[in-house]
Amino acid sequence: MTGLLDRETPRAGILPFTHHPVQRTGAWAVAFLAGRGHPADVTLTDLDDVAAKLVRDVVRASTADKNHPAYDWWKVLYALFPNAKPTHASRPRDAAVLTGEVERFFAVEQADATLRPCVFCGVPAGVLWSKSMLPMFDTTKFLNTLPPRTVGWPVCRACRIAVWAMPYGAAVTAGSATVLTCDSDAVERDFVAKNRERAARIQQTGFSSLPSNASPEAVTVWALRTYATRPDTEPRPVTTTLWMFKNDNQEPWLRVTATRLAVVGFLRALPADTSANRGWRQLQRALTRRAADGTVARDGRDAIARTLFEPVNDQRDRLLSELFNRRDSVEKTSAATLRDWRALSALYLKEMCGMDAGELKPVTELLVDWITAERNPRGRFNEYRRVAGRAFALQRLLMEASARLLLDGAHPSDITGVTGALFASSPQGWRLRGQLFFEVVAALVARGAQIGQKNTADADGTDPDADSDDSDAQDGSLVGFGPDPDEDDDDSDGGYA
Ligand SMILES: [Zn+2]
Repeated sequence: MTGLLDRETPRAGILPFTHHPVQRTGAWAVAFLAGRGHPADVTLTDLDDVAAKLVRDVVRASTADKNHPAYDWWKVLYALFPNAKPTHASRPRDAAVLTGEVERFFAVEQADATLRPCVFCGVPAGVLWSKSMLPMFDTTKFLNTLPPRTVGWPVCRACRIAVWAMPYGAAVTAGSATVLTCDSDAVERDFVAKNRERAARIQQTGFSSLPSNASPEAVTVWALRTYATRPDTEPRPVTTTLWMFKNDNQEPWLRVTATRLAVVGFLRALPADTSANRGWRQLQRALTRRAADGTVARDGRDAIARTLFEPVNDQRDRLLSELFNRRDSVEKTSAATLRDWRALSALYLKEMCGMDAGELKPVTELLVDWITAERNPRGRFNEYRRVAGRAFALQRLLMEASARLLLDGAHPSDITGVTGALFASSPQGWRLRGQLFFEVVAALVARGAQIGQKNTADADGTDPDADSDDSDAQDGSLVGFGPDPDEDDDDSDGGYA
């Protein structure tokens, strides 16, 4: 009975756990700093201890020499609280003086203070804060956004501590911070746990010690994947929202991106689909960019994770775009990888868009029949590739191909069932056209059509922009040179640990 009551009663503790992204991330961070599993478990003593730690860390960062690693934490604080006492250029450099100033941030309400409801949680609060202490809030100059007759937003002590603990749970850089909100506590907790580790490293050894492959998107996708593939239970679909912001004096900004509910189903199905999963890792590798000296300029893990995020209410299917963008380099891509990309694209269509790639079969057959009717199919393949993404041009090419096959005495397949969707100007249309490309390439590979060419033996110049920097020529035969055995790569997914 007690258990039932416990579950039905909202967990209201000393530390409020609100839906405001800054306060919420801060509450998680306080819980982590206090060694608790959930913000609701934080005690009053914990709160005092965390406040004391915040004061020590803020003072240490604000009095550090510019060349000291501890100064990097000051850059983080500066990006979030640019006009606060410890980040201001005129701050006292004496640690004892500054300690007194910062301790006042987290002091209990004075007995004679006028109490107003806390802007985050609603409990009576006697302290008014504004932009310099609260990221994503206006300055007190914006009078019409403030509560009447006040010179700031009332913030209770627990929320004040949470706001300044927020950098420990956010993905911070020297110029911005990103916080996450999600309908799943597990995903939020994992995200904050990773950032908590990062924050400790920044404080001890500075930004230069951080791995380069831990963007907020990559960490979120890792947390979502962990959530989606839990063996015990079917996970309920959840969205994640990333709030990236800079609380700059001149030009503060906020960028909000989110994943769709369907991402959970996609990430759950991905490891079970061996070919699509390999395709994911190959795309991740293809998206990695290296500088001239060989160092990673853009980590593929970050790049592929970002494809699952989009501005709210703006479905962009960037994973499909990235796959389709590979069409110009199929000659440099192994047959196995192209098959895996076809599987990845089909799985994305099925899980994210509720679409079935199977309906493309007749169009695929028509195109492959037409391409392979030539002794040297490369010309026709390139003709198709040029128009593969364009509805009208593709429609014309399909009509010509159909007519050509008829005139030559063949029986072109009937594609009338799919043309409406395929040539539509809606997202549906371009998703199908992208999938069609991989269907056609896979079918050409299966038929052994010679549309590829061997590496740099580029005698006829059909591949003028062949640069070998991220070619995966080493991982098997090229298109048209016969299927190669499936192989796994050694790129594990454990890079976040
Ligand atoms: Zn509050």
